[in-house]
Amino acid sequence: MPSAPGGPRILLRRLREIMAEPVPAQARLDRIVILIAANMVSEVCSLYVMRADETLELYATEGLNREAVHQTKLRLGEGLVGLIGESAEPLALSDAQNHPAFSYKPETGEEIYHGFMGVPVLRAGNTLGVLVVQNRTYRVYTEEEIEALQTTAMVLAELIASGELTGLGEPGTETAARRPLHCRGVALADGLGLGHVVLHEPRVVVRNIIASDVDSELARLEAAIAAVRSSIDEMLERGDIAHQGDHRDVLETFRMFANDQGWLRRMREAIRTGITAEAAVERVQSDSRARLMRSTDPYLRERLHDLEDLTNRLLRRLVGRDMVEKQDALPDNAVLVARAMGPAALLDYDRSRLRGLVLEEGGETSHIAIVARALAIPVVSAVENVTSLVEAGDAIIVDGDAGEVQIRPPADIESSYAVKARLRARRQAQYRLLRDKPSRSIDGVSVSLLLNAGLLVDLPHLGETGADGVGLFRTELQFMIAERMPSAKDQQALYADVFASMGDRPVTFRTLDIGGDKLLPYMPRVEEENPALGWRAIRIALDRPALLRIQARALLKAAAGRHLRLMFPMVATSAEFRRAKALVEGELDYLARQGSPRPTQVSMGAMVEVPSLLFEMDEIARAADFLSIGSNDLMQFLFAADRGNKLVSGRFDNLSPAALRALRRIAQWAGAADCPVTVCGEMAGRPLEAMTLIGLGFRRLSMSAASVGPVKAMLLALDTRPLTEFLDRSLDAVAPGHDHVETLRPALLAFAEQNQIPI
Ligand code: PEP
Ligand code: MG
Repeated sequence: MPSAPGGPRILLRRLREIMAEPVPAQARLDRIVILIAANMVSEVCSLYVMRADETLELYATEGLNREAVHQTKLRLGEGLVGLIGESAEPLALSDAQNHPAFSYKPETGEEIYHGFMGVPVLRAGNTLGVLVVQNRTYRVYTEEEIEALQTTAMVLAELIASGELTGLGEPGTETAARRPLHCRGVALADGLGLGHVVLHEPRVVVRNIIASDVDSELARLEAAIAAVRSSIDEMLERGDIAHQGDHRDVLETFRMFANDQGWLRRMREAIRTGITAEAAVERVQSDSRARLMRSTDPYLRERLHDLEDLTNRLLRRLVGRDMVEKQDALPDNAVLVARAMGPAALLDYDRSRLRGLVLEEGGETSHIAIVARALAIPVVSAVENVTSLVEAGDAIIVDGDAGEVQIRPPADIESSYAVKARLRARRQAQYRLLRDKPSRSIDGVSVSLLLNAGLLVDLPHLGETGADGVGLFRTELQFMIAERMPSAKDQQALYADVFASMGDRPVTFRTLDIGGDKLLPYMPRVEEENPALGWRAIRIALDRPALLRIQARALLKAAAGRHLRLMFPMVATSAEFRRAKALVEGELDYLARQGSPRPTQVSMGAMVEVPSLLFEMDEIARAADFLSIGSNDLMQFLFAADRGNKLVSGRFDNLSPAALRALRRIAQWAGAADCPVTVCGEMAGRPLEAMTLIGLGFRRLSMSAASVGPVKAMLLALDTRPLTEFLDRSLDAVAPGHDHVETLRPALLAFAEQNQIPI
C-alpha cells in the first residue's frame, strides 16, 4: 500500500503556501492538483467545480488530458463525479470502471485508471465541487486517506468561496458558490433595502487547520466537549431557564448531540488525520449539514439548527473569541443576515446604517418583526439556509414587500431594484414635504392623523411625519420584547420617556393587550382551543387585577402634571369597562392618599373591537371618555375570520357593506353622544380605507409611521361631501332591485380615480 509522502500535515502546509503565492488563479489550481496527486501517491488528481447550472466542470487536473480542463462537464448524478456532487458523500472504489455509474469521457483519457477516490468540496454544507484522485492500479483507499482528502477539500472550499475562480470557467458560466440567488421567504416588514451582507453571528474562522500533535488536539477536543456539556447541564439545572419556553427543548437536544458517540467519533477520526480540533469540528459539521439538508424530514432539519448552535459553542471554546470572523465596522448599507435574532440585538445596531434584515426563522408576530417595523427596516424571514448561502460583504437586496431576497444579484436585477428604491425615496421625499401642511380636506374637514407606536424607537417618527400625536401606544410591546416581566419601575420609566418625547402632543396608552397571539415568553402558556376568543387583554386584567393595578400606577405616576389618556383593549361589555375604570380610579385614590404627584387629568377609553359592544353603544359612549376602533380585531370577530390565518384573513373585505355599516353606526352613535372616536387598526393607514372612513364621518385616524404620508396625500386631495353622499347612497339603498354588491372597493377606487385622489 503506497503511503502518502509526508502525510496530510505536510500536504496542508504546502497547500497553505500555494494559497498565499501571488500567482493567477488557474496556475494556483494547477499547482494544487500536482501537489495533491504527489502527496496521495496517485497518478491523477482533478478538481471539478460546481457551476451555477448545477454541472460539475473540470477546472484543473494532474494526470488526465490537460485539454479536457474547462471542457469536461458532468451533470449532477452523471458519472462518479456527478454522484458525489449529488450525494455530498465521499466515494472510494478499487475499480471505478466496474461501477454502474461510471461514465467515460473520452477527452480525459481516464480509461486506464481503476482506483478512484472522490470527496465533495463542502462549505457550510453546500457542495461547491468534487475533488478526485485516481490510480492505475486496483487500489483500496483507506479510511485515513479518505479523511485526508476531505480535509484537503476544506481548503479548496475556501478558495472557491472566495470568488477567486470567477471568470476561469467556460465563458458565460459561473461557479455555484458565487452564483446569484433568488430566494423566497415571508415578508415581515415592508420596504426595499439594497446593501451588503453583514452576518449577525459571524462564522468562526478556522485558520489553524494543521495540527502539530494529534494527542494534544484530541485532548483539546475532549476538554471543549466536557466544558460545553457541563455548561448545558448547568443551564438545564438552573431553574431560571424554565421561563424561556422552547429553550429547554433546545438544550435537551444539545445534550443529546453532545453525548452522541457517532458524532464524537467522527470528530476524533478527523483529528487523527492530522488536523486541529477546531478543523475537525468544522469538517464534521459540514458533512452533517450536507446530509441533514438533503433530508426531507422536518424534524431532522430542525435539529440541524441545534447541531449548529452546539458546533458554534464548541468552536468558540476552541478558537476563542478573537478568531470570530472579523467584520469591519458596520458598513453604511448593511443588510443583516441571521438565523434568528432577538429584538434587543437588533436595537444594538446603528439604525442609520441598516438597510434590511434577512432571517431563517421568525414569524409575522415575532418580536423582531415588531421592532424592525418600528425601525422601518425591511425584513424577509423564513429564507431557508440563508446564513450559509451568503458570504460577508456579498451584495444583497431585501424586498420586504414581496418577501424576496436577491443574493449577489446580476447587474440588470440590481439596477431595476435601484430604480424602484429611488422611486420610493422620491415618494418619501414628497411625503416629507407634506409634513407641515394642515391635514385638512379640500372642503375644509380637519382629520387628526396619529401614530401607532409601542416602543421608544417609534417616537422619532412623530417629528418626521408631522403626526398630531400617538393614537395607540401598545404597551404590551415592552413586555413582549423583554426577557422577564418588566418591573413597575421599568414600566414607569418607559412611560415617562414616552411623555418626554411627546412634547405637547397627546398620547393614548393602551393597557396590556396580551394573550391570543401576543404571548409573553415568561408567562405560562394557557392551552386554548381558540386563543383569539380566549383569555386575553382586559379579561386577564380583570381576573388578575394586580397586573392592571401595577401598570395603571406606573402610568399615573409617569403622567404626573400631565393629561393621561388610557384605554382598555378587547372590551366586550360596558360593565367590563366600568370595572377596569374602577381599578384605575382606585390607584388614583391611592396616589392621592399618599400625596404623590398625579396627572392633571385622566381620560379613559374603550377599544371597540368586539362586536357585542355595537349593541351597547349608548352605554359605552356614555361611560367612556373616548372610543378607539381596533378594526383588525373588530373585523376578525365580525366576520368570524382569523386575522392570522391566510386562508381566511383576506376572505371578507373591510369595504363590504356589512363592515361599513357597522363602522358608520359607531361613528353616528359616538357623534350623538359627543364621544370622540378614533380608528386605530391597520385599515386607518391604507389610503382607500382611510378615505372611506373619513367619508363615514371619522375624524381621527391612527396608523403606522409609514402610512402617514400616503394618507395625508389622499386627504389633501379629497372633497368629503360627494364621498359621504356616495357612501350614504350605497349603504342605505335597500330597495328591491337595488344592485347588491359584495364590496364597495371597486366603486370607491373609481371614485378616487375620477377625483384624482392619490391612493
Ligand atoms: C386592532 O385590533 O385593530 C388593534 C389596533 O389592536 P391590535 O392590532 O394590537 O390587536
Ligand atoms: Mg386588537
